[in-house]
Amino acid sequence: MIAAKTYHKCQSVEEAIALALKHGEDFRYMAGGTDVIINKFQGNDETNCLIDISAIPELKQVSNDWNVLRIGSLVKLDDLKKHKTIADHFPALLEAAHSVASPMIRKTATIGGNILCENRCIFYNQSEWWREAVGYCLKCEGDVCIATGGKKNCFSKFVSDTAPVLICLDAQIEVFDTDGVKLIKLEDIYTGDGVNPRQLNPKAIVTAILLPLDKDYRCVFKKLRPRESVDYTSLTTAVSIDKKGRIKIALGGVDPGPVVAEGIGMSAIDSLILQVFKKARVIDNDFYTRPYRKEMIKVFLQRSFAELGNTNKQFDN
Ligand SMILES: Cc1cc2nc3c(=O)[nH]c(=O)nc-3n(C[C@H](O)[C@H](O)[C@H](O)COP(=O)(O)OP(=O)(O)OC[C@H]3O[C@@H](n4cnc5c(N)ncnc54)[C@H](O)[C@@H]3O)c2cc1C
Ligand code: SF4
Repeated sequence: MIAAKTYHKCQSVEEAIALALKHGEDFRYMAGGTDVIINKFQGNDETNCLIDISAIPELKQVSNDWNVLRIGSLVKLDDLKKHKTIADHFPALLEAAHSVASPMIRKTATIGGNILCENRCIFYNQSEWWREAVGYCLKCEGDVCIATGGKKNCFSKFVSDTAPVLICLDAQIEVFDTDGVKLIKLEDIYTGDGVNPRQLNPKAIVTAILLPLDKDYRCVFKKLRPRESVDYTSLTTAVSIDKKGRIKIALGGVDPGPVVAEGIGMSAIDSLILQVFKKARVIDNDFYTRPYRKEMIKVFLQRSFAELGNTNKQFDN
């Protein structure tokens, strides 16, 4: 059931933040709504007020300023391809955006909503009656993780497909917070905690994503999922190399946050792969098994570096 007692459609960021301040913690911003509405429908989001920011015009622009590409947070995933600068400089971002959900959803879903979408788990993203029958877990007011049996940590998966690529492209986000505008490195907003996966002020609005245009990145994106459409990720990998030989790897789908490693030069590749392989806290909360997803991290990364033209050798774990 969609439970929101009040709904407001805002015309400006200031208006949205003023409304958020009025509602304390009991509200949710909505951009495309493709994540929020599902979570409400399944009873995983019980906030009573929806603040719809989808009509704010200045968040829909894409512009270039001083070698920085500024993508408004409300730009639809399907519209990214219409911008030549994105297609010319960041084809892997288009590939990642194109991998999200289905054609219909991508016409509504925004890039801002994608980097902020809620973590997922096969034991949590179920109907209210299903979760009640099984017994609630740490992410929904229960006292045990159904997947691991542990009582401390939730390992719900970080599932944004654009975020790993954006992290590899050194994205920063522009945040309109209650105390002013800030620029934050994208990877720094994620906590790695499955219950509270982000450390942004819930009242803050992400206004844009900023990408440097002068680093000549080459970037490869890969995604593992049962079907080529609609399914969420079971593993997302992105790797990049910039014109100075700096290498960056970011994984999604295998940990409560993005798993990131970076280093300089080809000689760093083996140890970077090993780092992310060890860091990823993969558990059995997906359609694919833990050992398979873990193994696929190495397979995807080896293939990605081979595609970048740097190596195609085998790695020991
Ligand atoms: C069937 C299905 C399949 C899907 N498959 C995928 C997939 O393969 N990969 C994937 O990454 N996602 C997937 N999604 C999830 C979702 O559709 C996308 O992540 C989408 O990009 C979310 O964008 P949105 O604009 O709809 O976000 P919303 O649902 O509007 O918002 C998502 C979250 O971000 C917050 N938010 C949104 N915009 C802002 C902002 N500017 N400032 C502050 N907070 C904000 C909202 O409060 C909410 O918490 C799928 C969804 C469905 C229903
Ligand atoms: S990882 Fe465990 S605690 Fe977290 S959502 Fe899944 S079952 Fe619940």
